[in-house]
Amino acid sequence: MLKMKVADLSKFFGKIAENETVYLPVDTKEGASYKKYEDGMVMSEAFNTTRSAKDFFFPQVENIVDFKVEDKKIEILDTHEAVKDFVIFGVRACDYKSFEILDRVYLLQEPVDQLYKERRDHATIVTLACQKPQETCFCHVFDDIDAGNPGGDVTSWIFGDDIFFKANTEKGEKLIALVKDLLSEGDDKPVEDSKAAVKFMLDRLPIKDIKLSELKKKELLDKFNDPVWNELSEACLGCGTCTFNCPTCQCYDVREFNTGKEIKRFRCWDSCMYKDFTQMAAENSRHTHMQRFRQRFMHKLVYYPENNDGIFMCVGCGRCLRSCPIHMNIVKVAKALGGDK
Ligand code: SF4
Ligand code: SF4
Repeated sequence: MLKMKVADLSKFFGKIAENETVYLPVDTKEGASYKKYEDGMVMSEAFNTTRSAKDFFFPQVENIVDFKVEDKKIEILDTHEAVKDFVIFGVRACDYKSFEILDRVYLLQEPVDQLYKERRDHATIVTLACQKPQETCFCHVFDDIDAGNPGGDVTSWIFGDDIFFKANTEKGEKLIALVKDLLSEGDDKPVEDSKAAVKFMLDRLPIKDIKLSELKKKELLDKFNDPVWNELSEACLGCGTCTFNCPTCQCYDVREFNTGKEIKRFRCWDSCMYKDFTQMAAENSRHTHMQRFRQRFMHKLVYYPENNDGIFMCVGCGRCLRSCPIHMNIVKVAKALGGDK
């Protein structure tokens, strides 16, 4: 275990920034947000960022290609910019787990999404163990998420005035080698104390009684046809806030925009809560708002786990609990479907 004074973090970021871009959570008026490190920047002490870290790999909007059309001639303009190595510092356990969920969609099945892959390949992820989970956090209901020991290329823990680091991968070793002059040997005791302290808090958070394994016991059609969907979806505004804030939502649309000089083909996040989502020429497969609402939660709680070794498409980050204007969220849905037995 290596350690450093928390007060030396700016030297740590500065040293890494000499070689590659570093992003860290900083306080903004919209809450904590990832920003590119610049001299004097101070890391946020918030328990997590308002927007998730998925933006690094799956940005809200990205250009794919441009076309120039002149009479009957079409010229294809490659707009791709090569991604350089970068470091994301301070990723929490829930958001780190969300990368695995996105990987299963974009990397681990054909066709591999090359835009996503390039960013994943160039990123070094430094996680930060949680110290102050909030009452909306429920990562602890998932067996494979450990807020006190989040993983990543490097895991870090803040305890008192010190920050501890443990490299877990080759990329992590390389990063630690860059800053080795700032680090000294530390013993494991403070890190073990930090893990125990966060576990103590997680065990006392209000959302601990959902048992998602109970959902798996119901037949798929019983869940699909459960009359509770009508009641649950009634107040939903279909605003899509929950999907945009969610670190595991990964649906997108591909559109084109004529600037007058060229046509830009871009992809942008989409939401299954929207009426025109997966709109086809003939019609839309989901006609009612209830069907769209059901799709979002069935995808997260039933379809994705059925196709991905039982892994739920939720990491308990609590963003949907904090942001929904009508206070609907996945915890309420899971409980209504029998996940609180
Ligand atoms: S944030 Fe709430 S109101 Fe908006 S679409 Fe999601 S569940 Fe519905
Ligand atoms: S469904 Fe809600 S709690 Fe689960 S990962 Fe998405 S935003 Fe976080």
